Amino acid sequence: MFILKDKTNWLYLTIVIILATFSIGGILFFRHQLLVEDVIAMESFNILRPAPLPTEINQNFLTQVNDCFIPVAALYGYTLRISSGFRTIAEQDEIYNQGRTVNGHLVTDAQGGKSIHNYGYAVDIVDRWNEYNIDWKKLAKITTFCRLEPSEEGDISHVEYRGGISTRDFMYGSRPEPLTLPCEIMKERSELKEKLTLKDLKNCGAPNFSN
Ligand SMILES: [Zn+2]
Repeated sequence: MFILKDKTNWLYLTIVIILATFSIGGILFFRHQLLVEDVIAMESFNILRPAPLPTEINQNFLTQVNDCFIPVAALYGYTLRISSGFRTIAEQDEIYNQGRTVNGHLVTDAQGGKSIHNYGYAVDIVDRWNEYNIDWKKLAKITTFCRLEPSEEGDISHVEYRGGISTRDFMYGSRPEPLTLPCEIMKERSELKEKLTLKDLKNCGAPNFSN
């Protein structure tokens, strides 16, 4: 190659080779960085992605309602039934729209995903005979005795169990610790399909909820 006979040409060639090496190295380095950033972004996406939603009420929570809350309330004269339990996001949005974009009374302040009903840890209750003519203070005491929680939003007919988990954390997959019944006899009565008695409740160490 005649051009390489010239010293200046050799110099140019050397410079071109050095520049090419740096350029290719640089491109490869950036590509690597982008991949690393992609992986980090994907990982944080996975961490922050809302968790899959359940399709039914949480059975442990429901046991607490059926074997403690409802039978204890029955001993105080209430025949409670669950008027609403698990709700899908679509069902939640539907009732959220009531009184807003759709005719009807306002039912809820929670949009889909923002209600504990969507995670299977809430029920709305009503008395079969007296509807909402209930001593709610008394019922709130029974709720707490059964290790459940009255609504924070002042919705008196709503009973839930968060166990300290925020709605946002529910959304991202956190769930509270499983509940246990306040006493064994409740489980036995339920299994034998027998009614809980006032004596059982006394043996359970329950206070008088009328006081
Ligand atoms: Zn509710």
